[in-house]
Amino acid sequence: MLIIISGPSGSGKGTVVKQLDAGLGYALSISVTTREPRDGEVHGKDYFFTTEEGFTKMRQENALLEHAVYVGNFYGTPRNYVEEQIAQGKVAVLEIEVLGALQVKEKFPEAVLIFLMPPTVVELSNRLKGRNTEDDVTIEARLKKSLEEVPLIDQYNYLVINDDVPRAVEKINAIVAAERLRPKRCSHEINEFVDSQKYLK
Ligand code: ADP
Ligand code: 5GP
Repeated sequence: MLIIISGPSGSGKGTVVKQLDAGLGYALSISVTTREPRDGEVHGKDYFFTTEEGFTKMRQENALLEHAVYVGNFYGTPRNYVEEQIAQGKVAVLEIEVLGALQVKEKFPEAVLIFLMPPTVVELSNRLKGRNTEDDVTIEARLKKSLEEVPLIDQYNYLVINDDVPRAVEKINAIVAAERLRPKRCSHEINEFVDSQKYLK
């Protein structure tokens, strides 16, 4: 199963994703980016930080499942990790922006797309300022981008308002639990039922 979580920068994606219930078998994809690391960000944990040349090479080698430019930097999802996790029956989680999400949806039509939205733009602005990781010009560009993304929300399967972190986490866990019960994801259980007729007396 493949879950995509998108939403404006500062909407709380990183915060929420870190609190998802490990018991549900989540495997968080780590993206590649040409953006500069923020204070405290660790290569290989938060992102794989690379140069534009390094990024272009990965693209040319078809090592990225999707890629996009976001406010002047390149971002992409390494293909191998995600494909391996899905093959092992894990819930691969991609925290990516909208254009990349739509590329993945084309390749994996059964991907579950969740859009995480803050309650208001004012709250979003406060969160970005409070995070204190970008200058005012970058914050302005990210706020503008958040409004440009709104028309694409219709392409998503679910909208979760992140007014409160535990509540948003609970909603995402509930979405994943329900998505797991779709008959197309339950072929194992269905086959077991049919097979069990051999024990009828
Ligand atoms: P994103 O990953 O979407 O860019 P972050 O997870 O970095 O966003 O969150 C941006 C800031 O907002 C952080 O400082 C975080 O602690 C704060 N934050 C996240 N969710 C909430 C919330 N529900 N209420 C208040 N602050 C929040
Ligand atoms: P940030 O610089 O705040 O970490 O991320 C900026 C934006 O890029 C966010 O919307 C984030 O979800 C998105 N992003 C992070 N990794 C990827 C990726 O691999 N692909 C795409 N398309 N977007 C990404």
